[in-house]
Amino acid sequence: MFKKVFTQIAFICAFSFVVSFLLAQWGVNYFIGAAFGVIIQFIGFYTFRTILSAVVALKNKQLENERIKEFSYQGLEVICPCFKQVRQLVPIKLNTANYYKCQECNKRVGVIITPETAIVTEPQDNSIEAINTLLASSIIKANANS
Ligand SMILES: [Zn+2]
Repeated sequence: MFKKVFTQIAFICAFSFVVSFLLAQWGVNYFIGAAFGVIIQFIGFYTFRTILSAVVALKNKQLENERIKEFSYQGLEVICPCFKQVRQLVPIKLNTANYYKCQECNKRVGVIITPETAIVTEPQDNSIEAINTLLASSIIKANANS
């Protein structure tokens, strides 16, 4: 810790010395040049830190989106049975028991998957023309049979 701080201070001093030396070539006062060098470093560091945090935030968001996308293939939005009723997207594996940790209550929650089946029906066309056509064809069929 102390070594790191000392290294940073030494770097700031060295950089300010170089800046003030270069500015002194154009007749700028040494102390003004050194102060300018220190200010430049703080501005540069602040800019670097801002850009870095923006890049890290962007990267985290991308990873989060990727994770959500992956979960959407094998994930379910479930509600924790605790009193807070937290809704959470959790990954689901069909070949093992599924557990997750609630974000709010920090408890381990099991996910029970109950498969249900239903017969798939075709959606019917309920327009008047379709009903009339159906009626006409059934009447024709009935007349042909009798
Ligand atoms: Zn909970």
